Amino acid sequence: MTQLAPTTSARADDGQKRFASLDPRTGEVVAHHPVASEADVREAVRAARDAAVFWAGLGFDGRRARLDAWRKLLVKRLDEFQQLISAETGKSADDARTELALVVEHLHWAAKHAAKALGKRKVPSGMLMYNFAATLEYRPLGVVGVIGPWNYPALTPVGSIGYALAAGNAVVFKPSEFTPGVGVFLAETFAQVVPEYPVLRTVTGFGETGAALCASGVDKIAFTGSTATGRKVLAACAASLTPVLLECGGKDPLIVAEDADVKAAAEAAVWGGIFNAGQTCAGVEVALVADAVYDEFVALVTRKAAKLRPGGEPDADFGPITMPGQVEVIRSHVADALDRGARAVVGGLESIRPPYVEPVVLVDVPDDAKAATEETFGPTLVVTRVADADEAVRRANAHKYGLGASVFSRNRGEELADRLRCGMVSVNSVLAYASVGALPFGGVGDSGFGRIHGEDGLREFTFAHSVARKRFPALLNPMTYDRGSRTMRHVLRMVRVLYGR
Ligand code: NDP
Repeated sequence: MTQLAPTTSARADDGQKRFASLDPRTGEVVAHHPVASEADVREAVRAARDAAVFWAGLGFDGRRARLDAWRKLLVKRLDEFQQLISAETGKSADDARTELALVVEHLHWAAKHAAKALGKRKVPSGMLMYNFAATLEYRPLGVVGVIGPWNYPALTPVGSIGYALAAGNAVVFKPSEFTPGVGVFLAETFAQVVPEYPVLRTVTGFGETGAALCASGVDKIAFTGSTATGRKVLAACAASLTPVLLECGGKDPLIVAEDADVKAAAEAAVWGGIFNAGQTCAGVEVALVADAVYDEFVALVTRKAAKLRPGGEPDADFGPITMPGQVEVIRSHVADALDRGARAVVGGLESIRPPYVEPVVLVDVPDDAKAATEETFGPTLVVTRVADADEAVRRANAHKYGLGASVFSRNRGEELADRLRCGMVSVNSVLAYASVGALPFGGVGDSGFGRIHGEDGLREFTFAHSVARKRFPALLNPMTYDRGSRTMRHVLRMVRVLYGR
């Protein structure tokens, strides 16, 4: 069956251009959605400005009550939400449920911790400024534009939306053209608990709608998607000095040390590489395996991966490739690796039957093959033999991406994790950091910059507001034209005593 890309349809009666979102399992239309024009986006941002004033005015407690009510509503409608995610992405029911479990965990965490992370607090004023009281608070930016991908159409945007809302901002959200219904569901359910103003508004459409959001005068853009589009977003936002958060792609390694529990590592590599059809930014793309345990690891991975089958039924091991164009990327990576001498120990080119791709496990992949250097984003796994865990760390750190990583080692897990140049590491597990509300999520290098989740994720959507209040006159004040040479002599003597030794 050939997958169809979302298509624009004729103008509807209201003159609005619409497009269809399709079920990648069947090609059937899930729903039609408006293509928001530049003017529509501008209007949404204008309305969000008033909404932002109302929302910020609720304070931390008022916002927490609403965000908690939203979370409970999402839990109440979980089955319906899961079915919508599965319909637009094709992902299995359990992959969608896992995504939603993390959505509500993060909404809960952000609402609960915003006041403590961002609220006004005293900070030490320092020895030179002993006569001042210093306070710091983190204030909302105003209106945040969120641009999301299709692979986790609820979780990735909520990583920005939930934290931006908890910090007191209004949000205008542009979902992927492949998952517009999920974006609409988020905004509609939110409006049920916040009916007064459009504090969270979704604008649907294609890349042009996202580009319009970048140029709309929002106070920040939080982008999650490919590195290539991330570069365009950054360039567009430079013109108006709009700050940007970029959550981009990855090529995450799983390191298996000589002393690893090889069975657990193989289990994690297969799940981390293949669940959600491998369409996970921080999924396992490459296993770097110490020579001493390589043969055992490959045998276990082969046995496990060969049993998994994609399908359209809710209980399939994993679903189809959501974005039709991605199938060709996967094919080109597998073909390029095989042409250069790699071996497929599970599957091969024949595993690619759009919209499904069966598991493919490649060994002996040359370092410069696309499957070793670029994000494949499919149910494929490259297993590479390395001398030891130290070589694995060197190889991982040489990569242009730096999103997440996993380390399997009985005795050296933390030590190896500390040496990895990437945003997040799981030790003796995969993707564990993504479920911990307190841990920031994001990458370095070509994986982008800025953070969602945790206190950093809340502060990402704020600006620091600092106040220094004079409590009483200082004995020595160098910050006045009335200072004499005696004052400066004493100040310098104090500086030498306090800071020169
Ligand atoms: P894309 O980069 O293709 O699209 C991301 C979003 O940007 C979509 O909403 C898209 O709209 C929009 N967009 C497209 N062109 C522009 C433009 N010129 N200006 C503004 N917005 C634009 O990514 P995918 O949707 O294909 O998502 C997959 C990618 O996302 C992978 O690389 C994956 O690694 C990454 N990702 C990163 C995560 C992280 O946290 N680091 C998490 C999840 C995914 P439209 O769809 O309508 O074209």
